[in-house]
Amino acid sequence: MRVIKAQDILNAVKRLAIEANYSLPEDVANAFEKAIQKEESIVGKEVLNQILLNAKLAKEESMAYCQDTGVAVVFVDIGQEVSIFDGYIEDAINEGIRQAYTEGYLRASIVEDPVFERKNTKDNTPAIVHYRIVKGDKIKITIAPKGAGSENTSRLAMLKPADGYEGLKNFVIETVRLAGPNACPPMTVGVGIGGNFELCALLAKRALLRKLGERNQNALARKIEEELLEEVNKVGWGPMGFGGRVTAVDVKVEMHPCHIASLPVAVNIQCHANRHAEIEL
Ligand code: SF4
Repeated sequence: MRVIKAQDILNAVKRLAIEANYSLPEDVANAFEKAIQKEESIVGKEVLNQILLNAKLAKEESMAYCQDTGVAVVFVDIGQEVSIFDGYIEDAINEGIRQAYTEGYLRASIVEDPVFERKNTKDNTPAIVHYRIVKGDKIKITIAPKGAGSENTSRLAMLKPADGYEGLKNFVIETVRLAGPNACPPMTVGVGIGGNFELCALLAKRALLRKLGERNQNALARKIEEELLEEVNKVGWGPMGFGGRVTAVDVKVEMHPCHIASLPVAVNIQCHANRHAEIEL
């Protein structure tokens, strides 16, 4: 058994949450650089330039890339040969988030009761944590702050097998069409296919963690990614919804076996603030 201290998890979460909010990942910035070449609209090109300038300034000045610093979504892959010492892992994660958002001047965006009082928790906790037990003796932590503009446009459908690939494609394209400027494009479109109701939503979210431009190893998923990317870019929203060719910089698909009578599909829309940072302890 390898022992990892809860304090080390706390410190890692704090550092990652600040890093994710201040610096856009390199693959995302590269995708926007390429998009400038592809975009034909003059306004669209200018928007992409502004997005890149914003990313540069946020990093240089240690400021949030976007004012919506989002829900702190945390993915934790725990090796089955790890023992966590001196604290409960979820307390350590939430304390790391609390310190990052208060000391890093990141907006607190979480309300306690979602329907009535909607009182701000003031420190962006609680985080939303997804655990997975994996082989080995390490812990991998990924933090992906998720803003509400794009999250609110995400959708899930329990399609029937008879809806087939056409039904699936139409649902994804319709979701991008309905999302429009509210999702702050250029988007990355995460698509979960299969599993059941809750798993396909999680697949769609996990799909967003893969590097932009990197295709799924599964040939079917790869084909869907390539076709959907072409189709969603025909919708024509363009950068920030001003019209253009680049509505999405990528589509990421994750698939899982499902019930004989189901075809679940979830679309998690990611805005241009495609933020994430990870570490292995
Ligand atoms: S949708 Fe994304 S880019 Fe737009 S305000 Fe929210 S976090 Fe920022």
